[in-house]
Amino acid sequence: MTSTTSSSTTSEKRRNRIGTKNGDLYQWTHIPYDQINSNYATQEYIQDKIRENESVEDIIEPPESHDLHVWQYEQIRQFTLELNHFAVHFSDVCTAKTCPKMKATEDWLFLCASHKATQECSAIDYFFHTLDNTSALLNSEKLFPKRIEISTSSLKQFPSIMRRLYRLFAHAYFHHREIYDQIEEQTHLCERFVTFALKYSLVPPSSLIIPSPK
Ligand SMILES: [Zn+2]
Ligand SMILES: [Zn+2]
Repeated sequence: MTSTTSSSTTSEKRRNRIGTKNGDLYQWTHIPYDQINSNYATQEYIQDKIRENESVEDIIEPPESHDLHVWQYEQIRQFTLELNHFAVHFSDVCTAKTCPKMKATEDWLFLCASHKATQECSAIDYFFHTLDNTSALLNSEKLFPKRIEISTSSLKQFPSIMRRLYRLFAHAYFHHREIYDQIEEQTHLCERFVTFALKYSLVPPSSLIIPSPK
């Protein structure tokens, strides 16, 4: 048994850190799920599938008899990690000048919930405030003390996290389409996010405002 404090050096090397360049992500060898011996087995399993360019459906399909709450938690962690890379691509074109409000088309204005009282933030501030806030939630000792068991009350965080994260795609799609398309073509990140959100009913279909490419 591996204890919670001593993660092996192998698993240490198998982790993408925030700030890793896209081309440097997932540079390690694939290990089958039942052979991964670390506390980060699920994360590693998901990242291996992404690195090996498996289909969107395969990446979000849990291994047999996997705890489905932990599975969702780890997928959302992974989306948050990848959305941090996604957001960086917009930091030059999406500024307080170009996008002073967090909109998707002219019809949707999103308020930033990462403050004591929700407020209007510029789109790029909304991106990073939401990502920081989501990371803080997911790393919260109180809400998610263990990564191997998720309480029913903490589960309630998932739909609101997913709903807010989706808005990053929506803004990017409707206001910075060229960059969005380039990233999506390479990563299928939004497609995976939406497929996952629908599979576990985490976002109501009426909120999914980006037209499906299929
Ligand atoms: Zn923008
Ligand atoms: Zn904000």
